[in-house]
Amino acid sequence: MEKLEEIQKELAAIEINAKKLEPASEIWSTWTENAFSFAKEFLDQLPESPVFTRKDDSESFFSVEPLAEQGTPMDELLQNLKKHVIEPGLNPASGGHLGYIPGGGLYPAALGDYLAAVTNKYAGIFFAGSGAVRLENFLLRWMAGLFGYPESAAGHLASGGSIANLTAIVTARDAKNIRSRDVPQSAIYHTNQVHHCIDKAIRIAGLAEAQRRIIRMDAHFRMDTDHLRSSVEKDLARGIQPFLIVSSVGSTDTGAIDPLKEIAEIAKISGAWFHVDAAYGGFFTLLDEFEAAFAGIELSDSIVIDPHKGLFLPYGIGAVIVRDGAALHRSHQYQANYMQDALGKNDEWSPAELSPELTKHFRGLRMWLPLKLFGLEPFRAALREKILLTRYFYESIRSWPDFETGPYPDLSVAIYRFRSGSDDNAKNLKLAERIRNSGKVFISTTRIDDTVWLRLAVLSFRTHRETIDILLDELRRELRAL
Ligand SMILES: *Cc1c(COP(=O)(O)O)cnc(C)c1O
Repeated sequence: MEKLEEIQKELAAIEINAKKLEPASEIWSTWTENAFSFAKEFLDQLPESPVFTRKDDSESFFSVEPLAEQGTPMDELLQNLKKHVIEPGLNPASGGHLGYIPGGGLYPAALGDYLAAVTNKYAGIFFAGSGAVRLENFLLRWMAGLFGYPESAAGHLASGGSIANLTAIVTARDAKNIRSRDVPQSAIYHTNQVHHCIDKAIRIAGLAEAQRRIIRMDAHFRMDTDHLRSSVEKDLARGIQPFLIVSSVGSTDTGAIDPLKEIAEIAKISGAWFHVDAAYGGFFTLLDEFEAAFAGIELSDSIVIDPHKGLFLPYGIGAVIVRDGAALHRSHQYQANYMQDALGKNDEWSPAELSPELTKHFRGLRMWLPLKLFGLEPFRAALREKILLTRYFYESIRSWPDFETGPYPDLSVAIYRFRSGSDDNAKNLKLAERIRNSGKVFISTTRIDDTVWLRLAVLSFRTHRETIDILLDELRRELRAL
């Protein structure tokens, strides 16, 4: 009895502090207004804001500001956030971001994230969030349909393309029944232009000891299928099992699309799993003009596509789709006693049995909201605009006497370089750095066979004709200075 009273007394005493975590609605409304003003100012100023800021004073802030027992006012936190977090480095929201693979960050996606977090809807298991799971599966079915996959396909909305690729490769490993002892007799085929996350995924999946065949490319940096075919045949002849072919739809360096149809045929004959990394290029399938380039993708076994690239969403969403949904399920399903109420046959698969995740952010909402609010038409227009902007840049630079251009761009990435005859690698690196320091546009570089190239990657929904003209002006100006 005494014990019970003691507990009650302490509960009464600590409740006041514990309840601070649920502030009155006037308080959280004010915080929301503060955050909204912050966002509004950020977006209003975005056209004039530098796309790259070299300063970094964030260390001083995070090393001297301890976490305290008492809270800090919101406006003070937002000021610090702006100065120490938002301002330094690259500004990926800017339309001037023309390096790596930009995307932008559609505003309604932030509202989707906000509502997903406020409601904390559980999207891991159908039993707990049937609507949330249905919404995510609806989006996955839409993407599967874009690529002509059958009804039996299934997928997962992961945090990004890297995890999505890992999920696909693990599924391929299990579907082809590659046990540890089979790994050294199994072969993986890809060009040296696949994204580095494929290499990471192969190692994480326990496949580091598999035979790796680096397939040659043609002059467009697309996979040379004659070489693929002869490599596969050679392996079959010596008793090595062709296990996995990884192709790219939009390679990172040059945006090249591999010849999917021919690869699919070789995969079929050899029994290899055919994976397509379309993290960057996948959503260009929304444009009819790419029908021929994408032909054959419907014959693949798995596809990765990043809505935080081609649908311009903020970072944090990449999809994996597997043609045989049951294979994805076999690799990721589980049983646990404490989940006995939640598991079992439903009319929908749950993300928790199709991915390594259990408790996850309800990512589908950030994708569904913009797609429904805007409709598909503006997405198609923006994607077509990116293609045209890239061609506009490419055709402009092609006529410049001191410049060399790479192959005609398959998608919205182009490579080009200044050519003076001496020390050109260093000069191009310098040129890129000087343009970045202007703060107006951000460009990146890459190195292919020891040659440094400047890279243009157009994928932000905020990049328009005037942005490309600024880049052309900056290039002219820096060239004169060089
Ligand atoms: C971006 C990209 C990845 C990696 O995806 P993340 O979302 O950055 O993890 C993989 N492959 C290709 C082709 C990419 O463009």
